[in-house]
Amino acid sequence: MRTFVYTSHPSRVVFGAGTAGRLGEEVERLGCSRVLLLSSGPLAAASAKVRQELGGLVAAEFDGAVMHTPVEVTEQALGVLREASVDGIVAVGGGSTTGLSKALALRTGLPQVILPTTYAGSEVTPVLGETRDGRKVTQSSPAILPETVVYDVDFTLTLPLSLTVTSGVNALAHAVEALYSADADPVTDQQALDAIARIGRALPRLAADPADLEARADLLHAAWLAGTCLAAVGMGLHHKLCHTLGGGFDLPHAETHTVVLPHAMAYNAPAAPGVMRRIADALGVPDAPSGVHDLVASLGGPTSLRDLGMAESDLASAAQAAASTPYPNPREVTAEGIAEVLAGAWHGCRPAGPPSTEAELARLTEQVVASFAQAPEARVRTLLGDLVRHLHAFVAANDVTDAEWRHAIDFLTRTGEICGPTRQEFVLLSDTLGVSSAVDLLTNSRTPHTTPSAVLGPFYTEGPPDTPRGGDISGGLPGTPLWVDVRVADTGGAPVADAVVDVWQSDEDGFYDVQLPELAGPVLRGRLRTDAEGRIRFWSILPSEYPIPGDGPVGQMLKATGRHPFRAPHLHFMIDAPGHRRLVTQLFVSGGAYLDSDTVFGVKDELVVDFTPQSGPTPDGRPVDGEWRRLDYRFRLAPLAG
Ligand code: NAD
Repeated sequence: MRTFVYTSHPSRVVFGAGTAGRLGEEVERLGCSRVLLLSSGPLAAASAKVRQELGGLVAAEFDGAVMHTPVEVTEQALGVLREASVDGIVAVGGGSTTGLSKALALRTGLPQVILPTTYAGSEVTPVLGETRDGRKVTQSSPAILPETVVYDVDFTLTLPLSLTVTSGVNALAHAVEALYSADADPVTDQQALDAIARIGRALPRLAADPADLEARADLLHAAWLAGTCLAAVGMGLHHKLCHTLGGGFDLPHAETHTVVLPHAMAYNAPAAPGVMRRIADALGVPDAPSGVHDLVASLGGPTSLRDLGMAESDLASAAQAAASTPYPNPREVTAEGIAEVLAGAWHGCRPAGPPSTEAELARLTEQVVASFAQAPEARVRTLLGDLVRHLHAFVAANDVTDAEWRHAIDFLTRTGEICGPTRQEFVLLSDTLGVSSAVDLLTNSRTPHTTPSAVLGPFYTEGPPDTPRGGDISGGLPGTPLWVDVRVADTGGAPVADAVVDVWQSDEDGFYDVQLPELAGPVLRGRLRTDAEGRIRFWSILPSEYPIPGDGPVGQMLKATGRHPFRAPHLHFMIDAPGHRRLVTQLFVSGGAYLDSDTVFGVKDELVVDFTPQSGPTPDGRPVDGEWRRLDYRFRLAPLAG
């Protein structure tokens, strides 16, 4: 059983995107009608938005908030506040603006509504650090705690990546130290671990795309959780060091946290192995201190106090100052210990993780991912970085041997070697692994009101022969005659004229022309243009089921794994029309074989259609003995824009 004391610091939290629209309501909820709007110069655009939302509720403004809350600035703001007889405070900005708001609330008792624009977490703590005559003094009081916090993800989108990383690690530091705090309890443990996992997830995504709203939301949520931990439990060596360095050596707040955290963690690790294990698990790294260092380095964050401008000659006095008063910490804090931590942080050394294959692998993965950091396109960075992570995770999870990897390379080499102008084994591989259909499903989900697409398959050839309207693409090959009468329309149902429609299919034995060397030229493929009604008509023969080519590596893979090689019978279409997205799809013969187990996973219910049996006169009067089939269908194309 765990014995604990938990103190909550009640504040009302509104979280989401666009929540600044609720600021007026929240101000009035506190009974205020004349507020002082606080901000800082660089956040003029954010404060203009807040001013607009608050309208007549703003009685005065002060935009001079600066870091470390100097009392002179607070005095100036107090003058503005008193002159305008305000009854509440609204602050938009990072920890600095929140600090000013708290300093004013402490002096006046006025209620506060905070809209944070960084991940510092100060908005949910009853703590205030003020600087007087160059000395920062911290105090805690219920009067300091803001009443309401409005988290609006939209306001964090402008935070540059470098500040996003350092401010995110500032939040990480709160969560890490909460876990090994002497005051830790089950509530803060859960909040801290949730925050750590969110930060570990969000920061790499934001490095690839700083406008990723979901990742921004994750990070802001983490900032709230981590700030709540900071408010609830006492912090240890890390916060003490950062406080000393920030106050005494004028180092920037979040950057200092970012540099010091891995070293403070490495110092405490021997005394808190269980906590370090949980942090490592939450971050998905083999070792917590070196994992945090690697995360920061991979994101381009600062890793040394030297780079923050601290002189090496100041290290001794910093160590002395940090060791001057005792405070709770999992590992005993000694002057030598602090000196060791500061030296590591000043040089930016990577804390030594336990020697393990996992740690080496994690470092290798991050190194490869970081090698793409210079790629100019964010999407390229994301795709290649993620591919590397998945491939490395795949070989690690399956303990892939050298022989197995060489076999895989050989398989891919043979796949490439068999490719040629009429043979596309890589498409076949992608199809039989279901990847083509997975990409296709995602494509379809983006255009739900159009005809579903289907995989291109390996048998399309560029430049099929022009086929006149009503022509015959069968080249006289035997089979059940098929009359195709299809229309092409837009999503509103209007006909699409002059669309170029390429069609291709197998013969009645299941072979495409490119598989039949005895054929002189292209057969069972053609190119038609839609008429004014968006219509094409042509003769062909009923397609049949067929096995994909079995003489290459993909065929061997199917055989070796006991899979059948058959595709359900279908007719291919590729439709291009000006102003519309290209549609590549297939129409499957209803009642045909293998509809339920198509070997490329390409069948979609909406594409299974009747190739209706007919007898008697044909639409164009062509004489046909016995049964023939007809296919009627209307394709719907997506517009290009959007
Ligand atoms: P900050 O508020 O000084 O902001 C850092 C910089 O980022 C500033 O230049 C600011 O203008 C800019 N900025 C902020 N949000 C932005 C946005 N969305 N887009 C573009 N630019 C933006 O820094 P901080 O790290 O948030 O806060 C540091 C201060 O907060 C320190 O004084 C620290 O002591 C205090 N703090 C206090 C507590 C507490 O509980 N009392 C907790 C954490 C931090």
